Amino acid sequence: MTVIGLDDTDSRKRGMCTTYLATRVADAVRDAEGNVERLLLIRLNPAVKHKTRGNAALAIHTDLDPQLAFELARNELETAAETDDPNTNPGLVVAPHTPENTPDEITEFARFAVRSLLSREEAERRIESAGYHSAGWKNGRGKIGALAAIGSWNAFSEWTCEHISYRKSERWGTPRDVDFDSIFEAADEQYPAVWDTVDRGTGDAVCIPHTPCPILYGIRGDDPDAVQRVADEIESEPVVRTALFVTNQGTDAHLRDADLGSVEENRAYRISGTVASEPETRRGGHVFLTLADRSTQLRCAAFEPTKRFRDHVRNLRPGDEITACGEVSRGTMKLEKFTVRRLDTTELVTPNCPNCGRSMKSAGANQGYRCRDCKTRTDGKVEREIERELELGWYEVPPEARRHIAKPLVRGGFDGPTHPER
Ligand code: ATP
Repeated sequence: MTVIGLDDTDSRKRGMCTTYLATRVADAVRDAEGNVERLLLIRLNPAVKHKTRGNAALAIHTDLDPQLAFELARNELETAAETDDPNTNPGLVVAPHTPENTPDEITEFARFAVRSLLSREEAERRIESAGYHSAGWKNGRGKIGALAAIGSWNAFSEWTCEHISYRKSERWGTPRDVDFDSIFEAADEQYPAVWDTVDRGTGDAVCIPHTPCPILYGIRGDDPDAVQRVADEIESEPVVRTALFVTNQGTDAHLRDADLGSVEENRAYRISGTVASEPETRRGGHVFLTLADRSTQLRCAAFEPTKRFRDHVRNLRPGDEITACGEVSRGTMKLEKFTVRRLDTTELVTPNCPNCGRSMKSAGANQGYRCRDCKTRTDGKVEREIERELELGWYEVPPEARRHIAKPLVRGGFDGPTHPER
């Protein structure tokens, strides 16, 4: 068996897409009489600055001879990768073993690649010690993703799928002709086995990219048959190629559990704490709050593109206990989802006079309150119940604002009630 890993072949402006290139490599493998067992689409650390869009890397699992597989893939990358773009630095790595037999060092590298930052030198050191074939173009940074794609099969255990339909090459870069009604209808029929196809709040078709790439639409879900059924029902311009990818999208593989005190930049976390400041909406519509524990605090933000999610964040108040999830960069956690573990449902207010019912006045520093008319006294403020808009449980950003790797609540498996966005 052979595992081919590829990455960093596309350009934000010029198009292409590494998934498309992987399907071309898969075709070349089949033409050489190899069997393609699986195409793997891996989302790596979303905090990587030099990503084109979603920090994807691809692996092809095949029975073709490794040397031949390497030559075929190198040929495809050479002809199709958008190397004229200064930010495109393709990488190719080929491993001569089954995906299950990946050495621990490479599996570990894949885990790091999803949750930390790595260097090309580190990738090259591990490629060499594993004895893999590899090639890099320009600065060869794509070798990081290519190696991670090889290690990912053993690194992760939770998988979803995506059915991608591709456009005719002469249409790349032109507006996509897809019937929205057919997308919404098909998405409704297969929900929740299929998710993040549309955003019912904004009426947008999330499955259609906005870039000049070859993808017409991508249908994501838990069940390969269900994503296929949705794709079959969508009416659109001609589809020239389709492929089913096994992926770590929608799994939260990027999140690690941590305390507030151990947070590092450019990593994504699941962190518990107490809301320590009133949520504040600032210019641009971004909502900020502070999360704290006994020793430290962290600024959290729900940015404008997270739209209606911001209302849930605004409904938090100091004293609420939550677990927040998101990437930390520049000292701020970009909220992807949070769960309310305990709601603060009381507030301290100035007491009313038990006799006349009017608000009491302060009797001086640390001397409680008194009613000037009735001369009644109390020791301090009293607790009052407050109505809360939030309930206990998980809240998330809407499909349109979801990161590829973030797990939609509708997939289940969360430790509490969920309030899924669809
Ligand atoms: P494409 O469709 O081309 O894959 P993309 O949005 O996935 O686009 P890339 O163009 O692949 O982004 O850019 C990401 C680059 O970052 C790649 O060169 C990849 O090797 C590298 N990379 C991925 N994960 C990490 C990581 N954890 N640390 C450092 N570099 C990384």
